[in-house]
Amino acid sequence: MTELNFDDLLELQSVDLERDAIRHEMHEISNSADVKELESKLNRVSADAVELKSNHDLLALKIEQIEISSMKIKSKIDELNDRLYKQEGLGSKDLQVVAKEVEHQKVLLGGLEDEELNLLDQFEALQKILADNQDNKRVIMDQLNSIKRNLSEQLEKLTSSLDELNRKYASMEQNIDHDILETYLKLRGSGKQVAVGKLITNKCTGCSVDIAQAEVNRIKTAKDQLNFCEQCGCILAF
Ligand SMILES: [Zn+2]
Repeated sequence: MTELNFDDLLELQSVDLERDAIRHEMHEISNSADVKELESKLNRVSADAVELKSNHDLLALKIEQIEISSMKIKSKIDELNDRLYKQEGLGSKDLQVVAKEVEHQKVLLGGLEDEELNLLDQFEALQKILADNQDNKRVIMDQLNSIKRNLSEQLEKLTSSLDELNRKYASMEQNIDHDILETYLKLRGSGKQVAVGKLITNKCTGCSVDIAQAEVNRIKTAKDQLNFCEQCGCILAF
């Protein structure tokens, strides 16, 4: 009867557990909550910027239109004043009508000028909000870039540690009996992190559960075959 030796397998598993930890860490880094939060903040600020810009353009257009209307009214007033003061042969009734029209146009012009001032105030306020939005966006992008740089440095280190462990694993794997390795890999593949545990003072180190004395006795006489923990199903080494 040849006793099976599990030392290499236990060592292989310790490398596997290290690899698990590194992969977990890499996964956490790739799904960084800080990055996600900043990215969604950036999306919100960018969406705000689009809306602000469109309001800004709309206001600028309105102001331009008011200026055009004001110019038209001003030239109309000039034209009416010309008729009032330079045109000869107008009767007093005609003069009254023209003078009234001048007053009317001046009222319209006053209204437009008030509206323009109001819009210019809004425009100025909007420009300030837009500038704040851009500042905010820059700050978020700086934060995001610095976090991403940091994470990518961490990832790089973890990747090289993982490469190292992969090489170690590949060389260790060759020392292990084919059937034992296959069973171990099957257990690991089924989602079991600890696929090989040690039987230490009637306890399985895979699950820390006590094993009945009768079973311990049986295992001790069956050292030439693979034994499994009744509780967690891992290979029991001794
Ligand atoms: Zn167990």
